Amino acid sequence: MCGIFGIYRNVDAAANTALGLHALQHRGQEAAGIVSFNGERFFAHRDMGLVGEIFGDEEIIRALPGYAAIGHNRYSTSGETVARNTQPLFAHMDFGGFAVAHNGNLTNSMTLRKELVREGRIFQSTSDTEVIIHLIAKSRESTFKDRLIWALKKVIGAYCLVMLIDDKMIAVRDPYGVRPLSLGKLGEAYIVASESVAFDIIGAEFVRDIEPGEMLFIGNDGLESSFPFEKVNKRLDIFEYIYFSRPDSIVDGRSVYEARINIGRKLAEESHVDADVVVSVPDSGNPSAMGYAREANLPFEMGIIRNHYIGRTFIEPTDKIRHLGVKLKHNASRKCLEGKRVVLVDDSIVRGTTSRKIVEMVRAAGAKEIHFRVSSPPKTWPCFYGIDTPDRSKLIAANHTVEEVEKLIGVDSLKYISLDGLYQAMGEKGRNNDAPQFEDSVFTGDYPIPLVDVNGGNHSRDNISLIRETT
Ligand code: AMP
Repeated sequence: MCGIFGIYRNVDAAANTALGLHALQHRGQEAAGIVSFNGERFFAHRDMGLVGEIFGDEEIIRALPGYAAIGHNRYSTSGETVARNTQPLFAHMDFGGFAVAHNGNLTNSMTLRKELVREGRIFQSTSDTEVIIHLIAKSRESTFKDRLIWALKKVIGAYCLVMLIDDKMIAVRDPYGVRPLSLGKLGEAYIVASESVAFDIIGAEFVRDIEPGEMLFIGNDGLESSFPFEKVNKRLDIFEYIYFSRPDSIVDGRSVYEARINIGRKLAEESHVDADVVVSVPDSGNPSAMGYAREANLPFEMGIIRNHYIGRTFIEPTDKIRHLGVKLKHNASRKCLEGKRVVLVDDSIVRGTTSRKIVEMVRAAGAKEIHFRVSSPPKTWPCFYGIDTPDRSKLIAANHTVEEVEKLIGVDSLKYISLDGLYQAMGEKGRNNDAPQFEDSVFTGDYPIPLVDVNGGNHSRDNISLIRETT
């Protein structure tokens, strides 16, 4: 996870970056940072917490002068939850200052890190991103661009990067395009951001998606695009559409909102049940529940109300707090639920903690029947490419059949959308098993990018969960 943002040639670079990060807050709520450049030197501010808390103070923005800035929202998937992992990372290189913000997860960073440490390189953080800095530092190529390409050809994994050097802002999306990245424009300024919602907030126009494998150099003379990596089939993480991206974003040419409505429609088609109302688990389940209701011709009711003054419960790092979080976040409305046969829609079940609590609440509010519908297939594998999913032992669907999960969460019926149904909702004929259109490893265990840190890449489906706990 994580959100990244960068702006080049703008008088309010840091303020606009703070706003962009605010729009991308859903991508990471643990920490945030901005590095700016004023033509002479770099300035940085990073802290733990939400963007509004960190950058709400004018003084802090004023201390980030310059016409260029990059920013980052962190949700740790690799490395500890500590301040020194907060990005953008910054280093003094032989060519000048270098700042980098990363969304995604490298799958060979441990392996590379071990080699680099053995060579005598000293790491400041436990973040996988720092490996990229060390690789650029040690590259013998002559130009910055060639050093960056050399470094990126050594790393394997999912990444979107935005970087800042003395006279350029650089954006790169990994060859598979696992994470989204788009390009925008505000007057003379170019902007890159994880999602297009970051352009809306500052009145910038969406120009286009940055392509998988594309490297963009942005300077005073405009854009220079290149594709330095071997071409592979694009595999955007389908979970960006299911859950992660904001519904008002356009990701790789598709509206996330429309995608979710269509997924909900397909889910209704596949899992019909006689019911009185459709209720979503807000906010993640809202669009798919609306799609479900439209297809099933049932009323959509706000039977669960969300308290907006608490972040995503899942993001809390310990099980104890997460447990509490569900109650802090949701409340069921008796008015909508009493005596009703309820179709309850959520985007995913991970550990099952949220669902169990929500179901208890909906029953306590008087629902007569609860039919749980999930707008993604069962999550049975961990994600190694940047979305936090726990070890297999904690994934309820990895350890129980659908019937068992149905009992465990206490519902009258439970249905997930099928994998092919999901692809059809995305406008495809189904999953093309020879060349899958999306990255969907959490549902299939099909990991397109080698998991080098997992037993040197010699992983089997059996040892995946084991390794994840130790890295
Ligand atoms: P759980 O209680 O572990 O089953 O969590 C399920 C809830 O977490 C669902 O309501 C999802 O919307 C949400 N969710 C799914 N994946 C993630 C994620 N990677 N980060 C944060 N929340 C998530």
